[in-house]
Amino acid sequence: MDLQRKLEILADAAKYDASCASSGTEQRDSSDGKGIGSTAPGMGICHSYAPDGRCISLLKILLTNACNYDCLYCVNRASSNVPRARFTTDEVVKLTLDFYRRNYIEGLFLSSGIIRNADYTMEQVVSVARQLREAHHFRGYIHLKTIPEADDALIAEAGKYADRLSINIEVPEEKSLALLAPEKDVRAIRRTMGRLRLRLDEAQEAGKSATKAKPPRFAPAGQSTQMIVGADTADDKTILNTSANLYGSYQLRRVYYSAFSPIPDASRALPLLAPPLIREHRLYQADWLMRFYGFDAREIVEDAAGMLPLDIDPKLAWALRHRDRFPLDVNRASREELLRVPGFGAKAVDRIIAVRRVTSIRVADLARLRIIRNKALPFIVLSDHRPPPHLLDSAGLAERFKPKATQLGFGF
Ligand code: SF4
Repeated sequence: MDLQRKLEILADAAKYDASCASSGTEQRDSSDGKGIGSTAPGMGICHSYAPDGRCISLLKILLTNACNYDCLYCVNRASSNVPRARFTTDEVVKLTLDFYRRNYIEGLFLSSGIIRNADYTMEQVVSVARQLREAHHFRGYIHLKTIPEADDALIAEAGKYADRLSINIEVPEEKSLALLAPEKDVRAIRRTMGRLRLRLDEAQEAGKSATKAKPPRFAPAGQSTQMIVGADTADDKTILNTSANLYGSYQLRRVYYSAFSPIPDASRALPLLAPPLIREHRLYQADWLMRFYGFDAREIVEDAAGMLPLDIDPKLAWALRHRDRFPLDVNRASREELLRVPGFGAKAVDRIIAVRRVTSIRVADLARLRIIRNKALPFIVLSDHRPPPHLLDSAGLAERFKPKATQLGFGF
């Protein structure tokens, strides 16, 4: 099979993995004339898009789409009737360097189906990164998927070469994993996340210490995971609780949410339809509330519903459920309180705190502070604004924020 055909198969096979944003690593470049490539911390790399509009920022491929496992939600499962291919290590290295030189990509995201066993597969994945870094001095971004049961020495080596490592938790609940991916073991996944966390902590601690020798490099962009949304019956509350637990236990940089895509010849255990993409978007918004806005997972989704509303964002939904906390005086409120105002981003809150030290904030300042005025005004008091009495109590307030209903077509 020629390289072009392999690339078609193995790039297509990798498109379902959403956990490939390339942020948060150390800065490297090759301006000293040695090596090839560079990284730019915090910069999103967006060169191409998946069919559903998701950004694919790296050369994102599988080493092989052959797999011993039979995870029902996966197009590459052993029983799937898809063409199979396998790259050699040299082929992936060549593709990465060629694409990099042509400016198509800024790094590599490499995953693989499980062939022979976990150690063999992990060794194959690591050997690509080893060759790129050591033989070709490649300094671009590398994200490697980690095989949960792989030997510790292989994981240490993966962390030496990769910027980020990830292990997919796949679904939020253990019982769903047992049903949908019977060969996968949630305890092995969590154990390996724990091993990664220990190594990341060690590298960080040693990096802070002035007395200790320079620590061995270990995945400076940390670890991440992906959860498939809508392949099982787990509600948003369960998903967010699982994410909160993963962030707390393993210091993950990111949990990626990937809306389940129906696959050909799917098992009857899977839903026939994909969940709405907006559900994935709302989960990302809720995830940001947990990571940057001081919200607890339990506050974000109402107990009874279990699901995030799709028509309004989760912070606005929270504010509408807690109207007794508003209106909030922007010129006096604490940072924690300001972070909970609809339409206020974390940077806008920092700007408010800086500006109000010298002058009181008025309606005209909102645009300059990059605040979504219409969303915020019913919830705030400014030196020249107070929402009309009863607005916050009115039943119609929520309706103001919902998208306008549109007439559906008649199909002719
Ligand atoms: S281990 Fe499961 S999810 Fe991963 S490639 Fe194999 S079948 Fe797909």
